[in-house]
Amino acid sequence: MRCYIGIGSNLDNPERQVALAIEALHHLPRSAFVAASSRHASTPQGPQDQPDFCNAVAAIDCRLPPFDLLRELQAIERARGRITGPRWGARIVDLDLLLYGDLRMDSALLTVPHPALSKRDFVLYPLAEI
Ligand code: AMP
Repeated sequence: MRCYIGIGSNLDNPERQVALAIEALHHLPRSAFVAASSRHASTPQGPQDQPDFCNAVAAIDCRLPPFDLLRELQAIERARGRITGPRWGARIVDLDLLLYGDLRMDSALLTVPHPALSKRDFVLYPLAEI
């Protein structure tokens, strides 16, 4: 299934965090990396006293079921958000499952297409690009 992943970071060298997330997407199980968009800068939504975001969208061909893919994306977030010590720190990168083929679903854990997909330029422009 062709899937599109939204990536965003505004902490700890966002460009590098996005690059590392894209690298991690190359190694997802039962998946093949297809493409990554260029980077798009965006200003924070909500509280303005935080750095600008670096955003990108990646495409993969994925044979994992949707919830397994979501878990893999969350594992990448956790791995990138880890602060020294046993506790998981705040995420420094956010991965959203934007599209999973033509699937439409709305469950407690997963909504696809991602509900904010059509509302965010920093998702729509990179998505259109790839
Ligand atoms: P956020 O902090 O905005 O990344 O939201 C994470 C939560 O959103 C997780 O608990 C997911 O289960 C849920 N979620 C629902 N739909 C999606 C989606 N399409 N992509 C990523 N997370 C999702």
